[in-house]
Amino acid sequence: MRIRSMFFKANASAALANPVLQANMRTSKGKFVDKRAVAIREIDDFEGTREAGKAVRNRVLQDLDLWLEKFEATATARGATVLWAKDGAEICRHVVDIARRHGVKKAVKSKSMLSEEAGLNHALEAAGVRPVETDLGEYILQINDNEPPSHIIAPVVHKGLDEVADLFARVHGTPRKTEIPELTREARETLREHFLDADMGISGGNFLVAETGSVALVTNEGNGRMVTTLPRVHVVVTGIEKVIPTLEDLSLLLRLLIRSATGQSISNYVSLLTGVKQPEESDGPEHLYFVLVDNGRADLVGSSFQEMLRCIRCGACMNHCPVYQTIGGHAYGWVYPGPMGSVLTPLFMGLDKAIDLPHAATLCNQCGVVCPVKIPLPELLRQLREKQVDKNLRPLMERLAFKAWAWVACRPRLYALGTRFGVRYLNWLAAGRDRIGVLGVAPEWTRGRDFPAPEGKTFRELYAQGKR
Ligand code: SF4
Repeated sequence: MRIRSMFFKANASAALANPVLQANMRTSKGKFVDKRAVAIREIDDFEGTREAGKAVRNRVLQDLDLWLEKFEATATARGATVLWAKDGAEICRHVVDIARRHGVKKAVKSKSMLSEEAGLNHALEAAGVRPVETDLGEYILQINDNEPPSHIIAPVVHKGLDEVADLFARVHGTPRKTEIPELTREARETLREHFLDADMGISGGNFLVAETGSVALVTNEGNGRMVTTLPRVHVVVTGIEKVIPTLEDLSLLLRLLIRSATGQSISNYVSLLTGVKQPEESDGPEHLYFVLVDNGRADLVGSSFQEMLRCIRCGACMNHCPVYQTIGGHAYGWVYPGPMGSVLTPLFMGLDKAIDLPHAATLCNQCGVVCPVKIPLPELLRQLREKQVDKNLRPLMERLAFKAWAWVACRPRLYALGTRFGVRYLNWLAAGRDRIGVLGVAPEWTRGRDFPAPEGKTFRELYAQGKR
């Protein structure tokens, strides 16, 4: 996937000026939020469950190498082959090699963010293998000129019904349909042929269970099961941090993941896939491969950003983020949008490739409050901002302004004088109104919004009054 995270500001401005996107974002806004709020009330002690989920994920990260070795041993004992990929290029190499070894011409895929990280579809096409996305959202994006997803669990949330109706009529050459069940049936009929033709299925993995060598998949469409059981070859592409020790841990994390993601008590399908097809079994793949991917994750272990590896990809942080909800996911410019993407993209791609993402948040902490595994996202964003300053990556004017502010702030009398004059100046600009339309010293700030006028006196003046 092309990286456009360095153009966040321009992308966000374009998103704000796009009336169709804005209407679609307004329609979807709050749906997952309301459902989650109801679903978490079903659990007596949701906070305690979050703590337990955090503890499980921390336990894994403390000994990640050992749990991965354990998973490799148990999965291999059940007939799977475990391969390791250090980056996107190696993911593609492994999957293309597997496809060649088994004479694969068509691969059906269920949702895998790692395949987006690697740009796997392009590599498969270049190798003569036709990849077909079968998650309904991903399928819509694929037939719309390979548009990237804008949400990690609802990839097509930025599109409206009319757009999809037009797209299906154009691409499928069928009469235009406007009811969701009709469109879904049309997609299902088109995809069924691909499921039956495909020689290989490619899936992601929500969790890898070390004690059994299984991959757990959580889906709401039947496509996940078709992808993983119908073709003779199944390839799981997932991150190394997805390993968990036991089935008991899985049951705990599923309670958190599904409620936080879609607000369901349980998703329509929870599949636990273990090993290759046995002689007495009627379905399942003859060949099972796991491609376990690093792509920057191992560097986070032991760092001050290790907590980010607890992420179970539920999407709750973006569902609750006022910035994401206003601009949608494409503005973030890479695979992962919202607060989790604003942390992961600079860590995986480099701070200089995502200069504005750590600032793409109000730090309101909604994301931190809802994260099911208690990742302190605002604190991680703040740390990234600090790193940008340490590396002189912020624009010169901003650095000079902060230096000047720090110099003044270290001199209390000068600071008091400055704030007094500053408040007087802003009140003069406001001229009795409660908003300032054009901020004289920083007109850029008010180009797309008003600045609130100060209410009377400075904090110091009020404090001094209160003391008397
Ligand atoms: S950071 Fe937390 S809330 Fe966001 S996707 Fe990951 S687990 Fe979910």
